[in-house]
Amino acid sequence: MENINWSDLTFGYIKTDYNVRSYYSDGKWSDPEISDSEYINIHIASTCLHYGQEAFEGLKAFRGKDGKIRIFRLYDNALRMQASARGIMMPELPVELFEKAVKEVVEKNKRFIPPYESGASLYLRPLQIGISPQVGVKPAKEYLFAVFATPVGPYFKGGLKPSPYVILRGFDRAAPCGTGTIKVGGNYAAGLSAGEIAHSKGYSAVLYLDAKEKKYIDECGPANFFGIKNNTYITPDSHSILPSITNKSLIVLAEELGLKVERRPVKVEELETLEEAGACGTAAVISPISRIDDVDENKSYIFSKDGYPGPVCIKLYNKLRAIQYGDEEDKYGWITVL
Ligand SMILES: *Cc1c(COP(=O)(O)O)cnc(C)c1O
Repeated sequence: MENINWSDLTFGYIKTDYNVRSYYSDGKWSDPEISDSEYINIHIASTCLHYGQEAFEGLKAFRGKDGKIRIFRLYDNALRMQASARGIMMPELPVELFEKAVKEVVEKNKRFIPPYESGASLYLRPLQIGISPQVGVKPAKEYLFAVFATPVGPYFKGGLKPSPYVILRGFDRAAPCGTGTIKVGGNYAAGLSAGEIAHSKGYSAVLYLDAKEKKYIDECGPANFFGIKNNTYITPDSHSILPSITNKSLIVLAEELGLKVERRPVKVEELETLEEAGACGTAAVISPISRIDDVDENKSYIFSKDGYPGPVCIKLYNKLRAIQYGDEEDKYGWITVL
């Protein structure tokens, strides 16, 4: 193997040895098969290529101090993939098949699971696509489910670092009765142009407002939003955000740490009153927010002036990471030990 410098890994793509594939036709899923090819060969008229019949997941496997390999919230990702499939008229993949395929990919790519000390992990990407030809707008009859793996670095090298986010009122990610609550590629395509504008101006990501009224906070591109004030963890309730499994986990840990939890609509003006703010998702766990610029309204909300994250963000981050790496007991059944 070409020598991987574990401490230099980013959130990119590095070729691993194997991926797993399962095909759906005539109402049945095939047993997962192992492939060493990075390519898939599909029909030019596949519905995924034209009408966006594509859903995906993202989860991680970690190597612990004890040498054991742990997959975080495998079951929850399987369930969410089913919800995404239903949302775009794809057949649901049985949970057992999802779990078997993911475990197999981890097992077969063991040598790519970074060492404990690196703080890196093996990112797992399951996806499901419509692959039978169809020119009229209709769901496909055949599907491919695949899982690949790639090692990724810790999002923050040398500790959590707050970064700025931006509200761009001229862009929406998802509509209230649209596909915002499911993990489909189409939502990401819809967010690419705003995302590029944000990056080019030095922001980490866009903080989207609700598309209908532009009054409430939705989420940050590929991550949920949360704020902390008065010993309370506050996160938006909305019809157009993805139910983040990281957020769901942080809610449990916040309660364990003695915080109150509120899941409710969060008005933009409320940003003024928050003591800490963060984005949460599998990639970073928590990405603390230093500042949010509402550029069209000429307003800024500041959460960190000194370049350091707030105490609650740090506590939540350390606690979740400790569970993922097996340093702390898994009280909630979140971990699958391989
Ligand atoms: C995947 C995703 C998240 C984060 O979800 P996790 O399960 O925590 O990784 C948040 N928002 C969107 C839009 C997503 O696609």
